[in-house]
Amino acid sequence: MRKTNGIKQIFLWLIGFLLIAGIYNSLTMMESEKEVPYSYFKSKLKNKEVKKVYISNDVIRGELVDNNKTVKFKTLPLNDPDLVKDMEASGVENFSGVADRSWITTVIFNIGWILLFVLAWWFIFFRQANVTGKQAMNFAKSKARQIDPKKNKITFKDVAGCDEAKEELADIVDYLKNPDKYKTLGGTLPKGVLLYGAPGTGKTLLAKAVAGEAGVSFFSASGSEFVEMFVGVGAARVRDLFERAKKNAPAIIFVDELDAVGRHRFAGIGGGHDEREQTLNQLLIELDGFEVKEGIILIAATNRPDVLDPALLRPGRFDRRINVPIPDIKGRTEILKVHAKKIKLSESVDLSVIAQRTPGFSGADLANIINEAAIIAAKKNKESVEFEELEEAIEKTIAGPQRRSRIISEKEKKIIAYHEAGHALVAKLLKDTDPVHKISIIPRGPALGYTLQLPQEDKYLTSKSEILSKLSILLAGRASEEVVFGEITTGAGDDLSKATAYAQKMVMEFGMSEKIGPLSLKKDENEVFLGRDIVKQHSYSNETAKNIDDEIKRIVNDAYYKAKSILMENKLILDKIVEKLMEKETINGEELDLIVNS
Ligand code: ADP
Ligand code: ZN
Repeated sequence: MRKTNGIKQIFLWLIGFLLIAGIYNSLTMMESEKEVPYSYFKSKLKNKEVKKVYISNDVIRGELVDNNKTVKFKTLPLNDPDLVKDMEASGVENFSGVADRSWITTVIFNIGWILLFVLAWWFIFFRQANVTGKQAMNFAKSKARQIDPKKNKITFKDVAGCDEAKEELADIVDYLKNPDKYKTLGGTLPKGVLLYGAPGTGKTLLAKAVAGEAGVSFFSASGSEFVEMFVGVGAARVRDLFERAKKNAPAIIFVDELDAVGRHRFAGIGGGHDEREQTLNQLLIELDGFEVKEGIILIAATNRPDVLDPALLRPGRFDRRINVPIPDIKGRTEILKVHAKKIKLSESVDLSVIAQRTPGFSGADLANIINEAAIIAAKKNKESVEFEELEEAIEKTIAGPQRRSRIISEKEKKIIAYHEAGHALVAKLLKDTDPVHKISIIPRGPALGYTLQLPQEDKYLTSKSEILSKLSILLAGRASEEVVFGEITTGAGDDLSKATAYAQKMVMEFGMSEKIGPLSLKKDENEVFLGRDIVKQHSYSNETAKNIDDEIKRIVNDAYYKAKSILMENKLILDKIVEKLMEKETINGEELDLIVNS
């Protein structure tokens, strides 16, 4: 490093010197030279007062005597064929032609400007590099921040409300603590872990906690830092980041906003983005290149797992993917407790009440509320933070621009609860259904709530009655809204399109309609893909087309009424599920069983 810097410095001095010398030279030349008219030059020549003459294409320079003093002169040449004769006659002691120097001076002059420009750029980068790193001028160095194991005090205790994610990460902590144990057993561990979830749910915090728990170095960079305006810089930074981590192994490398570099390579209008593509490729190379044995684990975070390039998700890369969800009411209480430790909270405050009022809030939102409340209390000169300040802080956060779109009112929460409870109860009471694993009214991606059914075993065949049950379950959300509120909402749009697609397949692909019979009237997939679906000639008659439509409609309607009648008959149980959901926001299969069987 020192050596190259020395050379660079000498080089810089040299350029500076040349520049100054050049400018000095042209300035002195300009100053001492007197520009005279050609006629004046000729008259001086006649008076034998010209001593030296140098002639080039577009200038004549020389020395002449003016008031008994020798001065330098310059004049513009005219077409004067007798000039040489005149000079001889005048006895000029020294005259000669000079190679056309003007273009050389121009070039030198221009080079001067170019050099000046280059230097200016250099200094800009020099300063930029100085701000972020020790090594001057090296913007290929990653800007990754490093946290020493000794300084990292964050552990799993600081992260609340995402127990499942913590459990999954515990393996990695164990490995980093006892690598030898794993080496002798020879199992393969994931090199890359992808944390996905909404912003502010604690992904960065979790990654730091893994490093903190394991007592290893933590390197963090954001995907957007890699994507610079110069092609190749991002890739160099990725390389540098991995090199630094390897030198400090065991270590965690954390890359936030992975989607900034890892977006699907062919996505987007206008084709590729060279720089991002190179950066992504370098990341893949690094991922493939290191062995878990080296004690490096890459943890990345994104809130858009759907846009990631499939190459990232291939085996041996980010093969462990962990959801970090928006916390439910219990999680929110715990997060509030974690952060309340940092302030002086009045003993009269029950944080679970605050949790109840903040559905849809992320960990970051909740941390913010606690902080905000402490500030409000301080302004009021209070001894401790009371309920009042927390309430003010909630209102302030809700009013914030980025929150407004995610707010769920109490009334909406109830509608969502009935919708999901409807799905769950029908799934519970119908035959031939997968067990309900979880019901939640916490938003997840675009869905406002969800009911998760998990199959008990792998299945390759689905019977007609199973599909019919599935249809009823899908439509039960809408049915529940209608039974309870006498009014329906837009919340069931996705359910309806899925149900319709199922019914269509039953009739057109699986031959499950008696009226149509065991025929396959499937559309050609390719043509659907090409968008020619609309103009395509049916391979069946118009009468059949009408029958198909009628059958689909009948199947969907039957399934809907079945769901509705189940819910009407079991309205009391439905109410009980909703009550529990409103209280806890997420309930699992056993809790559902308890309610249904009571
Ligand atoms: P993400 O990386 O998912 O966007 P962060 O980890 O940066 O979210 O969270 C920002 C801050 O919010 C954290 O530093 C922490 O104070 C708070 N926070 C978020 N989630 C949690 C959580 N589960 N438990 C405790 N604090 C949290
Ligand atoms: Zn639904």
